Amino acid sequence: MPEVVHEIVQTDFEVEIQARIDAERARLRAEAGLARMREFKKPVERTFTAAERDYVTILFGGLTWKHEEMIKAVFHGSGYRCENIPTPVVADFQAGKEYGNNGQCNPTYFTVGNLVRYLQGLEQQGLSRKQIIDNYVFFTAGSCGPCRFGMYEAEYRFALQNAGFEGFRVLLFQQTDGIKAASGEPGLKFSVDFGMGMLNALNLGDVMNELAYQVRPFEVNKGETDRVIRDAAKTLTDTLRDRRRWHIVDASPAWMKPFFEKHKKIEGIGCTLGKIAHNLYGKEYVDALHTCRDRIDAIQVDRLRVKPIIKITGEFWAQTTEGDGNFNMFAFLEKEGAQVLVEPIATWIAYMMYVAKQGAKARAEAEAPHKEPKWYQLNKRFANGFYLFKKTGGLTVGSSMWTYFYHRTIKHMGDTAHHLIPQKELARLAHPFYHQLARGGEGFMEVGKNVYYTVNHLCHMVLALKPFGCMPSTQSDGVQSRVVNKYKDMIFLPIETSGEGEVNAHSRVQMALAEAKAKARAEFQSVLDRTGKSLEELHEYVAAHPELSHALYRVPHQEGIAGTAAQFALHVSELINKDAAWRRRVRTPVAASQAA
Ligand code: SF4
Repeated sequence: MPEVVHEIVQTDFEVEIQARIDAERARLRAEAGLARMREFKKPVERTFTAAERDYVTILFGGLTWKHEEMIKAVFHGSGYRCENIPTPVVADFQAGKEYGNNGQCNPTYFTVGNLVRYLQGLEQQGLSRKQIIDNYVFFTAGSCGPCRFGMYEAEYRFALQNAGFEGFRVLLFQQTDGIKAASGEPGLKFSVDFGMGMLNALNLGDVMNELAYQVRPFEVNKGETDRVIRDAAKTLTDTLRDRRRWHIVDASPAWMKPFFEKHKKIEGIGCTLGKIAHNLYGKEYVDALHTCRDRIDAIQVDRLRVKPIIKITGEFWAQTTEGDGNFNMFAFLEKEGAQVLVEPIATWIAYMMYVAKQGAKARAEAEAPHKEPKWYQLNKRFANGFYLFKKTGGLTVGSSMWTYFYHRTIKHMGDTAHHLIPQKELARLAHPFYHQLARGGEGFMEVGKNVYYTVNHLCHMVLALKPFGCMPSTQSDGVQSRVVNKYKDMIFLPIETSGEGEVNAHSRVQMALAEAKAKARAEFQSVLDRTGKSLEELHEYVAAHPELSHALYRVPHQEGIAGTAAQFALHVSELINKDAAWRRRVRTPVAASQAA
């Protein structure tokens, strides 16, 4: 009986607290003029069901064509109808402004307008609005913020409504929940083959993208890289789409079938593991990688062309898109004689896992089931530790596997693309300027990459592409002025991308590029002086050794040198120094430093 009294007293107490809170809230709302404001309720969306899978087309976009082709192939291979929306152009930006809210960031305008104009294009082809709304859905990434990324979904819906496509479905792939929770519908179903296919698609898109930018500036036959990369991408997409789907029952001898019939759980586990292995290590897949590698390797290059390396950083979308969204910056840089170092999407995924893990660690004490246990309360301390492990263990394993699979793809594709920079290292380098838990956009990565590429002499200039109206980029720009002050030889240029002002942006890039070119030339000359050989001698040796002109020939990395030509010159000089027969024939002296 006393216990019941205690309970009632406690409940009354809580009710009173709640009543006071409500009264105070009402007072404050009235004071702020919000008394009649209703809370926002997310509109209930029509579901995308399994029955619709055969006739509904999933639309998506926003990445490079290499990524999009791979992703499309995986959707097709899993039985979905799917189309990628073309790369956004200025007209999309204008449509985004026309139909969307004011005061958005640049990627919102471009991507929202891009979808609206694609649907309008379907209408012009003769489809009615009802047919478009019933037969198409849009698939995109979502987030809970903290920047405007958290508002993309609402923006899509708002603009679609304004453009007359009310009820058009937007499926969200939440960063935190994954595909299953995002769609919430069996129409878009997560399977092992689909998930592993997407992992391969993203990795291949990244590696192919980097190889294209790595090889093209040095190609001997103009246009060859683009042609070969297109062919190679076709081979990969055909494989991702058409490869045989592995199943444990098909792969096992006939006498095991009754066993699997009886033990469905064992069949399920075996099938999942087998599918993972088949997706990653299957002969069909690995052979396709090697075929592409050999085709790309056959492109003839001249690595002795001196070009400044421009590392691209900035906001995720602005540094990925290959069109008007970033003033066609990559094509412009290549036309101006630079080598572009692009950023893989894999970095961003690694970043998200890292931040989730560090956030969990930072909150560990507050969220621990036992508050401030004494040193001798081992069971409580263990319970707290286990609680944290449950939160972070999966992320640790996930990020290690992610890095491993990405690097494995690089290895099978010639082993010349860049490995992922450990997030811990980026966070450490950024830390004096930017806290690792200050989230939004690229977070600490913009500062971390700027410092990393500069102190390790991996580029001649860092170009940060920051969308107009981007909140996190504005924040990191403020910090970058301090970074540049500390690292005096850094050439760092932030460019605000927008739907307008391309000429102005290009001219600013040209000015900084002139400095970067001078830096690259000076570096090359000092390397040449060090070797004691002339450029002609190096060319002569390369001409006599055709393997050195293969696109995927691996040039060992020399610390402290950024340029491709300078690295290559040093390597060729070392080869000459070791090649006594060659030296006798052409009478090339051994470099003074080497001889000593
Ligand atoms: S990072 Fe910047 S540009 Fe990207 S969604 Fe957020 S606010 Fe917009």
